[in-house]
Amino acid sequence: MVLALTTALALFFVPSSTAHASFSLKGEGLTRHVKWARAAQLHVPLPNEHVRVVEDWDLVPEYFAPQPELGLGAQINLPRPGRGGWDYHAEHGLFLHELGHSFDHANVTPPLRKRFKVLAGTKCSWRAAHCRFRDRWDRTNVLDSPPGEWFAEMYASCALGISQAEYQLEGYNTYGWLPPDGSDSAICSLFSAARHLKRYENGNKGASLWWTVSDTEVSQD
Ligand SMILES: [Zn+2]
Repeated sequence: MVLALTTALALFFVPSSTAHASFSLKGEGLTRHVKWARAAQLHVPLPNEHVRVVEDWDLVPEYFAPQPELGLGAQINLPRPGRGGWDYHAEHGLFLHELGHSFDHANVTPPLRKRFKVLAGTKCSWRAAHCRFRDRWDRTNVLDSPPGEWFAEMYASCALGISQAEYQLEGYNTYGWLPPDGSDSAICSLFSAARHLKRYENGNKGASLWWTVSDTEVSQD
């Protein structure tokens, strides 16, 4: 069965004269995702990427980078709220976290990842299978997740305009990593730097900043 959903075209400008990224969303549950992305861009640049959101019961939250050779674009999978303990609050955090992976893929350069790791105080590789650290909420506990995940966590908390500790206290899903004390704002400002670096690398000088929700076509078997 092919289900065609059409959403209104939303086109608006962002209150910043320095940003030049192009971002779009298509897929399911768009009204709230658009609302969340719209709120996020007040604090962080959005990924320079066209992202499809796919929601389904019990789907594992995940970001898939585009694979042009297979004709696949960027995709974010999310569990549909209402079952399995997932609610809209959780989905909001997951959406921003996965958007952080999209931003990492589309906008971030190796020197910037290095800078993030310096601020985070780690030498682990970006996608290390194991990167253990002490749980700062409970010093007896050891946690394990790579810097690439911390980056996505920080994108989510920065996008909400709160610290990572506040993000975790507000009950969003988390790997439990906290940045060194006082480093939240320095890390959040890296995201703005990523926007400019990417623009320079792409030579994308003339583009205006906007993003749009295009007409949507969702296929289901
Ligand atoms: Zn992740």
